[in-house]
Amino acid sequence: MSIQTTNPATNKVIKSFDEMTDKQLDQAVSKAETAFQLWKKTTYPERTAVLNKVASLMREKKTALATLITLEMGKIFSQAEGEIELSANILEYYAKNGETFLADKKLEPELGEAIIRSSPIGVLLGVQPWNFPFYQVARFIAPNMMVGNTILLKHASMVPQCAIAIEDLFKEAQAPVGLYTNLLLSGKRASMLISDKRIKGASLTGSEAAGASLASEAGKNLKKSVLELGGNDAFIVLEDADIDKTVEWAVIGRMNNNGQSCIASKRIIAVEAIADEFIEKYTAKLAKLKVGDPMDQNTELGPLSSEEALIHLLDQVDRSIAAGATVLLGGKRVDGPGAFMEPTILTDLNPKIPAYYEELFGPVSSFYRVKDEEAAIILANDSDFGLGGSIFTKDIERGKRIADQIDSGMVFINHPTWTQTDLPFGGTKGSGYGRELSEIGIHEFVNKKLIRVS
Ligand code: NAP
Repeated sequence: MSIQTTNPATNKVIKSFDEMTDKQLDQAVSKAETAFQLWKKTTYPERTAVLNKVASLMREKKTALATLITLEMGKIFSQAEGEIELSANILEYYAKNGETFLADKKLEPELGEAIIRSSPIGVLLGVQPWNFPFYQVARFIAPNMMVGNTILLKHASMVPQCAIAIEDLFKEAQAPVGLYTNLLLSGKRASMLISDKRIKGASLTGSEAAGASLASEAGKNLKKSVLELGGNDAFIVLEDADIDKTVEWAVIGRMNNNGQSCIASKRIIAVEAIADEFIEKYTAKLAKLKVGDPMDQNTELGPLSSEEALIHLLDQVDRSIAAGATVLLGGKRVDGPGAFMEPTILTDLNPKIPAYYEELFGPVSSFYRVKDEEAAIILANDSDFGLGGSIFTKDIERGKRIADQIDSGMVFINHPTWTQTDLPFGGTKGSGYGRELSEIGIHEFVNKKLIRVS
C-alpha cells in the first residue's frame, strides 16, 4: 500500500508521499543511535522538560492536529480532540512519574548489598496503527524516552501527515536530533529492520499478521518485542444489570472511534432473562445514530478508515450471513460517497460463522443470548483473542468473581473496556503480550541491571 492521505469521508486522495530510500533509512538509524549515546546520559529533569514541552505544543495545536486525524482516518472531530488531550496527558504523566517508577530498588540478599538499577537499552522501533494515530504513539514513546531510549517510529501508511506532525512537535520542542525519527516505510521493510544491530527492541500495535511478522524477526535476532494486537472483547450483561445504563455503555463501547477500536465491545453476550429487553433497546439506539461527516459536531458515527477497510468488513458480514447469521440491523454500506457502514447487529452466530471468530473492525455488533452466567463465561473465553472484556451487574463481588474467570488482559465491571493513563493496557492469547501505560508500561524496554557490593 502506498503512503498517502485519503479522506475516507469522500474517498478523495489528498496527498501522496515517497517511501524512504535504503540510504535515508540507514542515516535515520545512525542518527537515532548517535542520539542514544547522548540521551542515555541526560538527567530525568532534562527528559521531563522535552516531554512536557511536546505535550504543551500538542495542546496549543489541538485543533489543527485533531483536524489531521479526522482528515486521514475519519475519526469524529470531538473524539480526535479528546485523543490529542489524552496523548498530552500521557506525556505529562510519564514526565511526572518516570523518575519515581525507575528509581533504584534495594534488594535484601543473604550476602552483600545489592540494588536493581533501571538502565536504557538503546534505539527502539515502534510500529503503530492508524486508529489512534497520536495516542498509540504517545503510550509507546513517553515511557521509553523517560527510560533513556531513543525512538524510530514507523506509522501506518494511511496517516503520514499525523506521523510527520508528531515528528515536527519534537523539532519545535528543540528535542535532540534523533530522539524521535519518523520513518516513511512499508510494513515489510519495518520488520526487516529489526535485524539491524543498532536497534535493540520493537513494539507493534496492529493486526496479528503484522505482529507475527515483526515478532518472528525479533525472535530470530534475539530482541525483545511487545505486541498489542486485535481483540474480540465480550460485553456480558447479567440479569441484575441496570439495562438502560448498560445499553448506553454498549453503544459507546461498540461505536467509539467509528467501531474501530481494539477494545471495542464486539461481542455482546446477554443472559436469557434480560436478552429481549436489552436487544430491543440497543437496536433502537443504534438505529437512531446520526451517520455522516466526521467534522460535523452532530455526527455520531463517521466513516471507516478507508474504502479497503469497508470492503473487508462488508465481506465479513456477507460471509457471516451466507453461513447462517441473521441481520437484526443494517448490514450494508451507506449509499453515496465515502467509506460509510450502517450500524449493524448480527445474531444467530455459532463457531462456524466468521463473525464468531474473526475481529470485525467497524460498527458491527455480534449479539448472543445465553442461558446463564456460566454459559456467558464459556462463550466469552471461546476466542483466540484475549484483550479486554466487561461485565454488567449490580453485584460487584459477583462481577469480580466472573472477572477472575475471563481469559483476557483487562476486565472492566460496569464499564466497557477502556484506556486510562495510569492503568496497564494489554492482552493475552492472540491479542499479544507485554503492557503499555501505568507504571508497568515503563519497564518493558529496560535493562534491570543488578549492582552488587561485597
Ligand atoms: P496492521 O495492518 O497490522 O497495521 C499496523 C501497523 O503495522 C502499520 O504501521 C502497518 O504498516 C504495519 N505493518 C503491516 N504489515 C507489517 C509487517 N509485515 N511487518 C511490520 N509492520 C507491518 O493493522 P491495522 O489493520 O491497520 O490496524 C488495526 C488492528 O490493530 C486491529 O486488529 C486492532 O484491533 C489492532 N489494534 C490493537 C491495539 C492494542 O492495543 N491491542 C490498539 C489499536 C489497534 P502499513 O500501514 O504500512 O501497512
